[in-house]
Amino acid sequence: MTGAPWSTGAGRLPDGALAVAGVDVRDLVAEHGTPAYVLDEADFRMRARAYRTAFEAAFGAVGAGVDVYYAGKALLTVAVARWAREEGLRVDTASSGELAVALRAEVPGAEIGLHGNNKSDAEILRALDAGVGRIIVDSLVEIERVARLAGERGVVAPVMVRVTTGVHAGGHEYIATAHEDQKFGLSVNAADGAESPAMAALLEVLEHPELRLLGIHSHIGSQILDPDGFEAAARVVLRLRADLSERSGVLVDEVDLGGGYGIAYLPGDVALDPERVAKDIAQSVSGVCQELGTSLPRFSIEPGRAIVGPAGLTLYTVGTVKPVTVSADGGADFTRTYVSVDGGMSDNIRPALYGAAYHAEIVGRSSAAETVLARVVGKHCESGDIVVHEVQLPADVRAGDLLAVAATGAYGRSMASNYNMLPRPPVLAVSDGASRVLVRRETEDDLLGLDQG
Ligand SMILES: *Cc1c(COP(=O)(O)O)cnc(C)c1O
Repeated sequence: MTGAPWSTGAGRLPDGALAVAGVDVRDLVAEHGTPAYVLDEADFRMRARAYRTAFEAAFGAVGAGVDVYYAGKALLTVAVARWAREEGLRVDTASSGELAVALRAEVPGAEIGLHGNNKSDAEILRALDAGVGRIIVDSLVEIERVARLAGERGVVAPVMVRVTTGVHAGGHEYIATAHEDQKFGLSVNAADGAESPAMAALLEVLEHPELRLLGIHSHIGSQILDPDGFEAAARVVLRLRADLSERSGVLVDEVDLGGGYGIAYLPGDVALDPERVAKDIAQSVSGVCQELGTSLPRFSIEPGRAIVGPAGLTLYTVGTVKPVTVSADGGADFTRTYVSVDGGMSDNIRPALYGAAYHAEIVGRSSAAETVLARVVGKHCESGDIVVHEVQLPADVRAGDLLAVAATGAYGRSMASNYNMLPRPPVLAVSDGASRVLVRRETEDDLLGLDQG
């Protein structure tokens, strides 16, 4: 076994090449080419199960129910949606397209959530027609919109109100800010003497017979490695729930604590442990409800990255290798080896978008060479087209080598583009020594087919 940040099924063969779930990556490349996304199905299922069972056990122990929604935006294909469902997860979607994938996978409407800060009428109608279990509303305007469309369809729409608690988390720390300057949700903080936007929205939902208020939703960030942020946000949401009950007599049944559970991207990174975080949150919310004198709601969480991120890796072929002398401010010049691969920011935008760090290794062979400081870059026309900012690679890295980047399962394919008219890579699943194509590689014909000349 190779260990984090690689998937649990990844390991080196006797000759040094990488295999995932018993499939030699050289065979995958011979059949499908590069770049390619590879998904370790058993790893995905294991993590889906781990989150569900950890949360069910911890929340069950304090007397609360919990549902786990897989955040489809991390990576949604028909097979992936089926795996999530088979492991007892529900599926969150954030557009008509994601909803279409979940429905194609025969996820029952009642087990699907619809998110988004700017849902169109068509998206809302599609969700209503599919009988989705919840629409998470994000503004007062949207409350009116969903009510009107539900009225037109003659149905009652189940809704949650997305609130912002002032707790933002991500990376290693969390911060609580007094006011919000971002597009999502409705703030629980009120201007002096006024009602908070969150409370106003909850009361507004209760006014509409076409809407059924399920509860309150809060998502505080992504790649969170410290559970304190979840607990802080949960406290705020539970207090709001109690306030609403006092104001309206309605104690809502559900509270969603969002996603954002952090994973290992680099060797040595420690992912959030689902058992520990589930216990921490369950104990905390139980204590808060006791203080508030309210019963516990049913909870839900929405992990995306933590389920699919570690299950994925991206395979590339090395093209050019170029030593570049870097003059360091006040220090000695040093050499950085630029290793160009046949993909880049079109298949993984996260390094360019967030400065996200990844780990890469040469995976088609072993090497006894010393390592050199390398930067893995793509083939796009941008100097910011970086795949891995800094990694030690064998000094004999050369054209034709296979290179794998670990933990690219989440927000790789789902954020991919056709920049420079590159066809997007396939998504290959590996399991028990066999592989199959979940999403085929795009072709130039696919791309030219959109161009009407
Ligand atoms: C992005 C998002 C998630 C999933 O976040 P991860 O970091 O992938 O776990 C869950 N819920 C909402 C509302 C989101 O926007």
